[in-house]
Amino acid sequence: MTDVHIHIERGPYTKEWIDRFVKQAVSMGIDEIYLLEHSHRFIEFAPMYASVCEYSDYQKNWYKSKATLSIKDFQALITEMRSREFPVKIKWGLEVCYFPDFEELIGDILNCFTFDFSVGSIHWVNGFGFDHKAEFWNNMDIDQIYFQYYSLMLRLVKSGLFSGLAHPDSIKCFHHYPVQDLTDTYHLLADELNARHMYAEQSGGLALNYGFEELGMNQTMLRIFKNKNVAIRFASDAHKPEDVGANIFKMQEMMQA
Ligand SMILES: [Zn+2]
Ligand SMILES: [Zn+2]
Repeated sequence: MTDVHIHIERGPYTKEWIDRFVKQAVSMGIDEIYLLEHSHRFIEFAPMYASVCEYSDYQKNWYKSKATLSIKDFQALITEMRSREFPVKIKWGLEVCYFPDFEELIGDILNCFTFDFSVGSIHWVNGFGFDHKAEFWNNMDIDQIYFQYYSLMLRLVKSGLFSGLAHPDSIKCFHHYPVQDLTDTYHLLADELNARHMYAEQSGGLALNYGFEELGMNQTMLRIFKNKNVAIRFASDAHKPEDVGANIFKMQEMMQA
């Protein structure tokens, strides 16, 4: 079993820190882990986040507190860890916030090093970080945000930059749902994922990190992805070693049901 989405961001770039993720994987019966970092951690991606910082002081301060490393630090860790032996298979990659105006920058950074995988994410809609605080949704046009979210996601997939699509309906994080029916959008998304040979995450991230009751993507999206044979991989979206493998087996069971 594989957990394809594990953040290492809350500890130092040392073998000891990585060992903690490996140890938890072993104890959970997971034999392959995808370890990653957010693009917002690295100063090389800074131009992408100008619109995010302009949007509000809250977001500017949030961004400044996160963007403290060079991608070279991460690459050095990966190179060092690839020379070590671990009892589980490790893949190394990035979770990249997708911004359509920065495809060239994203491509350049992904191509300058041999990452094992990359997942694209929509975390920002016209500068709005929709998954930060519930009150930020006050007075928002929900249908409009959903429309923009999925328009961006389609462009993300069509860009061909990524091997996978992270948490494809995380926009529901604070329980806002559109009036419009998204069935056609999900069909389109499934077709584009298949055309690009990309996988979609069945992510327990909202359940794990937001206490969200629905585990993984919504039932309509899941049914369409399954019917169209989209490659689906299970992701904990763990942000600490203890959460490696969280919900993975439960999501697999649900998928087979
Ligand atoms: Zn994410
Ligand atoms: Zn993540």
